[in-house]
Amino acid sequence: MSPVTGHHDVLVLGGGVAGCVLAARLSEDPARGVCLVEAGPDHGVDRARWPRTLLDAHALPRDHMWERGVAVHRLRARVLGGSSCVNGCWHTWGSDADHEEWTRAGGPRWSAAAMAPYRKRAAAAMRLRPVPEREFSVWARAALAGARELGYEEVDMGVPGAPGCGTPLLNALDGLRWNAAFGYLGPARSRANLTVLGEATANRLLLDGGEVVGAEVVVDGRTETLTADTYVLACGTFGSAGLLLRSGIGPADELREAGVRAEVDLPGVGANLSDQPGVFVPLAPTPDLNAALAAQEKEGELYVSRMLIRAASTHCPAGGWDLHILPSAGDPLFGSLPPGQYEAGVAAFLMKPASRGRVRLRSADPAEPLDIDPGFLTDPGGRDMAVLREGLEIAQRLAATSALAPLAGAVPSGELTDAGLRSRLGTYWHPVGTCAMGPATDPLAVTDGAGRVHGVSNLRVADASVLPSVPAANTQFPVLAAAELLADALKEAAR
Ligand SMILES: Cc1cc2nc3c(=O)[nH]c(=O)nc-3n(C[C@H](O)[C@H](O)[C@H](O)COP(=O)(O)OP(=O)(O)OC[C@H]3O[C@@H](n4cnc5c(N)ncnc54)[C@H](O)[C@@H]3O)c2cc1C
Repeated sequence: MSPVTGHHDVLVLGGGVAGCVLAARLSEDPARGVCLVEAGPDHGVDRARWPRTLLDAHALPRDHMWERGVAVHRLRARVLGGSSCVNGCWHTWGSDADHEEWTRAGGPRWSAAAMAPYRKRAAAAMRLRPVPEREFSVWARAALAGARELGYEEVDMGVPGAPGCGTPLLNALDGLRWNAAFGYLGPARSRANLTVLGEATANRLLLDGGEVVGAEVVVDGRTETLTADTYVLACGTFGSAGLLLRSGIGPADELREAGVRAEVDLPGVGANLSDQPGVFVPLAPTPDLNAALAAQEKEGELYVSRMLIRAASTHCPAGGWDLHILPSAGDPLFGSLPPGQYEAGVAAFLMKPASRGRVRLRSADPAEPLDIDPGFLTDPGGRDMAVLREGLEIAQRLAATSALAPLAGAVPSGELTDAGLRSRLGTYWHPVGTCAMGPATDPLAVTDGAGRVHGVSNLRVADASVLPSVPAANTQFPVLAAAELLADALKEAAR
């Protein structure tokens, strides 16, 4: 039997950030046969063979995406290593309030103290380190001074803590994006009990009486059925929900409408999508700022942003924060301006949205793009809009500080209506929640605190989609730690 069609102990579907963690940790036991299935290419162990765009941490690439020419909130990578191959390499941690939300949903293993060892493991594997001095632009340095002028104290962004200003941890090493395939699969690839399949797309799971009996996977243009004792989904917030829905696990009425036979009625699948929208306040860089940025670019050390503020709106519970204020200067995130000219500004991101979106199937056809509604600013009370507006005010106050104002002028703009603000919404690209964990008594819970899917005995989900609420943080670090935790939970169950 080939290593593909042979029976595996664990089949991990989706080789992104979480999938790489799971494959690496679960294959540490040589007695456990693990197969990792990734829809995108596997560029291998040799870094020299990786596309330059994915390695270059100076910019966000648009290649290796699931879809082209789509709204920015749909962007997600399709490559071994997942979105860690295309993202901003920023790592921050959320607040104690995030852990309280997760602990309520998933039990004590999700507390800040219980997750601390997983946070440390993830930091080590991804080689997280503070921003080196040489990577601070004139703008980032002035922004830190401006934040202090506004009364924000410096805080460690890599641990739960208080509002304040500071710098992220980075997995960008001398300009190289150190992705999860390098960090986690690198040391694991030579194990005889680990099979890594690139360019292999999971279409659906096959179920029999509340148990998964196979995964239909397209490999080299052929549809194969792969089997295992345990199936773990790590296709990301959009992909894992889509795969469950195509397999007949989801809201029964919605599945029937899409032409899929309902196997397990789980109304929460695809619901509860939670992401962080943001708005950018553009400024006009002075010739001096442009010149300073150009000089830094010549040195190969120009990065668009290297500092942030964790800010609390008047709606935020005491001690936490619900906004990231993020000054940036350099080339736009996608694309570039003529030599010597740059974009500067300050963005405000809503970190703890009350609004929820949804992922749905358009049809049973796996080739059909998913219907993804981010639900930005749709909460009935309008709290999200109010918080984001407070974020914009803080962004404007930061731009007007004596540290930043000499470097970039205000761009005249009229009063920003709600409709105008909606039309300018971007995203921080941190979607979670479509397979949310929670007790079986919660009708919208999809998984339990160990990642087990309610109502299916040998199926787990172990990626960003299980987080019931988005943390007040960039999500890669929390997802890495969550995947470490869920790998341990699976190991415990096997003992
Ligand atoms: C443009 C962008 C910028 C970002 N910047 C940052 C940042 O600076 N800091 C930060 O903390 N976070 C950032 N993020 C978010 C971070 O990358 C995600 O939180 C993280 O990747 C989530 O991990 P995951 O394993 O859940 O999903 P992913 O990493 O997206 O992995 C899912 C994997 O599953 C595969 N897959 C999907 N469906 C199938 C299928 N049917 N069959 C087989 N394989 C499948 C995909 O190809 C992909 O490789 C960014 C995200 C994006 C898109």
